[in-house]
Amino acid sequence: MTKDKTGKLIVFSAPSGSGKTTIVRHLLKQQDLNLEFSVSATSREPRAHEVHGKDYYFISLKEFKQHIKNQDFLEWEEVYRDNFYGTLHSEVQRIWNLGKNVIFDIDVVGGLRIKKKYPEITQAVFVKPPSVDELKIRLKKRKTESDEKINMRVAKASIEMATAPQFDHILINSDLETALNDAHKLVKAFVDDE
Ligand code: 5GP
Repeated sequence: MTKDKTGKLIVFSAPSGSGKTTIVRHLLKQQDLNLEFSVSATSREPRAHEVHGKDYYFISLKEFKQHIKNQDFLEWEEVYRDNFYGTLHSEVQRIWNLGKNVIFDIDVVGGLRIKKKYPEITQAVFVKPPSVDELKIRLKKRKTESDEKINMRVAKASIEMATAPQFDHILINSDLETALNDAHKLVKAFVDDE
């Protein structure tokens, strides 16, 4: 990536079902933050409402592996078995070229990797659900995954919770309204800081 046009990198990471996507969507609507969403590439199947180029770049496993070989990724992860997710260098560059700050909705490993690569310009926020039990209830309500996949996500969540102290901030999402306000304040302070 070139160094001439760099905005800031705002990372929101959390176990699946913690509400981080809702928070990220809210932040994207706040003009004062000047944010653009980093669209990840993934090898998983699109869900019914998802749009290529907006939610994800949906690519084949073969294509994904070719990008790994070409070192096109800033970070990538096999988040679940055979489901690869990653951030392309070209995506971050696209957003910086727009003169905007980048906001990421990615898993904890990827989030910490970005923080490590760009410590000065990255704000890493961990979104914590009230409990793992609550997380399971939310995932069931969402009805986008089978029971087997929900159990897989819940098992992973317990491991992910342990990484929270490595983040710059921990945002507890028990009351959504409060979490949205707190998130806005945190990000605003970071993007305004010279
Ligand atoms: P989902 O399948 O529910 O859309 O996402 C599964 C997990 O993969 C979520 O925790 C999501 O944040 C994460 N994820 C999405 N994009 C990326 C990415 O580019 N890199 C990494 N490391 N994780 C990602």
